[in-house]
Amino acid sequence: VYNFSAGPAVMPITVLEKIQEHMLCLPGVGASIMEISHRSEAFKEILASAQSNLRSLLAIPDDYEVLFIQGGSRLQFSMIPMNLLSPEQPSADYLITGAWGKHSLNEANKHGDMKTVWSGQDTNFDRLPSSGDSGGKWRPTPNAAYLHYTSNETIQGVQFKDVPDTGDTPLVCDMSSDFLHRPVDVSKYGLIYACAQKNAGPAGVTVVIVRKDLIADVSEDLPGYLRYQNHAAADSMMNTPPTFGIYVLKLITDWLQEDIGGLAKMHELNGAQAKLLYDVLDANSEFYEGHAQPECRSLMNVTFRLPSKELTQKFLAEAASKELKSLAGHRSVGGIRASIYNAMPTSGVECLRDFMEDFCKQNS
Ligand code: PLP
Repeated sequence: VYNFSAGPAVMPITVLEKIQEHMLCLPGVGASIMEISHRSEAFKEILASAQSNLRSLLAIPDDYEVLFIQGGSRLQFSMIPMNLLSPEQPSADYLITGAWGKHSLNEANKHGDMKTVWSGQDTNFDRLPSSGDSGGKWRPTPNAAYLHYTSNETIQGVQFKDVPDTGDTPLVCDMSSDFLHRPVDVSKYGLIYACAQKNAGPAGVTVVIVRKDLIADVSEDLPGYLRYQNHAAADSMMNTPPTFGIYVLKLITDWLQEDIGGLAKMHELNGAQAKLLYDVLDANSEFYEGHAQPECRSLMNVTFRLPSKELTQKFLAEAASKELKSLAGHRSVGGIRASIYNAMPTSGVECLRDFMEDFCKQNS
């Protein structure tokens, strides 16, 4: 089937085949990847390759740590304020552009009084602060410890094209659902985090890229696992790391480098695929209503509604019968959400496009 799930999500077929092959016996090791110690030379090499692949794909500067942490992106909603707030800087700024931004703010508020510097709630998160006049202006608060934003809101399907300008305030970004789909200037960020289960592998590992100086002097009174510096000092092995997830992340980043040819190329492919679907929305706007304002449409999650609930159910049932699966939108947005992450083949997007065109003709 073509799987349009928002995550865990589609994986490159060649990577799945390699996993299948290595599941019984990792070449040169004589045991499954799931059976070997995280302290073994074989696993240490896998972890080092995953880190160096990320460093080269994203051109991560040397003054940044690349950490592999468990607990998903949700744990980062708490670890970030726990590590980055201080008695001198007890508050941070949040740009709220969708459901995940709201969740991150709610957790952060347990650690201080955060400032919402911009929110798209009034228009059900269909736009971004960068959406020209419709977005509205915002300013960083003086002395904020950091500014947090979500580069791609997975549920609403709105995605920043540019990096927000925060002056000297460190920028913290939840890149969970658009990680590794385009080049990023890491030096503009204080911290980037992304759970793997959309573009970078299976659920269970979260990548945190953080500027070293931001985590160096954090209190040792924090619970050990929740203190970034402990992960950095132990090279992501302060406890047993999610070995399988890190191994798949290594294979995915190999695939991005060797088969795709890097993140600029990936971005081009994603742009071309997303255009196939957005063109159908634009050509049939009396039938399909896109959720996101056109200037902030996501290249990862395409969200739209049909004229009625009945037609939405019919669309989902007929799509499923054509092997186009997991297309239901989140209940807060309704309608359809087609998640077209890195590994979605163009043939899958073309199939969906053709189905959307036919469905519109037959039902409008
Ligand atoms: N942030 C974004 C943008 C997401 O899309 C998700 C999951 O879908 C999360 C955070 C939460 O990630 P996890 O389930 O790994 O905690």
